[in-house]
Amino acid sequence: METLTLERVHLGAMVSHARSEAPNECCGVLAGRNGRVERVRPVANADRSPYTFRMDPHELLRAYQEADAEGLEVVGYYHSHPATPAVPSRTDVARAADPFAVYVIVSLASEPPEVRAYRIADGGYRELELRVR
Ligand code: ZN
Repeated sequence: METLTLERVHLGAMVSHARSEAPNECCGVLAGRNGRVERVRPVANADRSPYTFRMDPHELLRAYQEADAEGLEVVGYYHSHPATPAVPSRTDVARAADPFAVYVIVSLASEPPEVRAYRIADGGYRELELRVR
């Protein structure tokens, strides 16, 4: 199984971002390299919706520039599901534009929150193993 490696502090950052934006979905960028997350970067959800997210294009561009300046690449994206499980929705699958990116979903539907990672391509998805270091 393919893996995504991150630190406990990265999980904490995504969960607190999800909680601060609830009941709307939050979203952001995961910068790092070789399937390893080094930085969690919140991005505004332009949809301002409990059911969907769309990264604010200006903040997304800035996130890419920041990653580049730090010698990192964007390894993936995260968003929250305030009231549903950490499984890609039909909209998530339809909107996922990058088959090489990792899509992390934080679900606040359970306590503690559930965090899962996927690759989304060709109208489907496949789960990755999350390795917390
Ligand atoms: Zn979603």
